Amino acid sequence: MRTSQYDQLDKQLQDAVDNCIEAQSLAYAPYSQFYVGTCILLTNGEMYKGANQENASYPLCLCAERVALSYAAMHAPGSEIKDIVVSTSAKLILEEVPAPPCGACRQVILEYQTRQSQPIRIILVGAHKNVWIYEHIEELLPYSFQPNFLKKNRKL
Ligand SMILES: [Zn+2]
Repeated sequence: MRTSQYDQLDKQLQDAVDNCIEAQSLAYAPYSQFYVGTCILLTNGEMYKGANQENASYPLCLCAERVALSYAAMHAPGSEIKDIVVSTSAKLILEEVPAPPCGACRQVILEYQTRQSQPIRIILVGAHKNVWIYEHIEELLPYSFQPNFLKKNRKL
């Protein structure tokens, strides 16, 4: 993991950060008041946004990351994901240190990364648009459950 500042990012990534922050306003978070925005940047330059969607039946809540990943998978099938940008806030004010994706989302990001055989960077946006950059999901999910564990004659 390394940190950087908005001004040091390339224009495309700056746009993804801006889209991510903007997506927070589309969150439906009446229960937690915790607003999460996501912007997925594909290698072809397309971007797909997501925001958390809560439900009175709490287990039905959807995280912003999985909303955006599913949306991108449906609208740009076969495309390669370059970055997942995530911002979190209470009352739409960016947090000094952003919350990372939950464990479920980390596992889902791993699945997409495995499918495309290319690393997916995870970029967290904090106050003043400072960013925390993880070069691949393994930095956030060591010792993960891998798809090859399900194969019959797997090697341990
Ligand atoms: Zn999550």
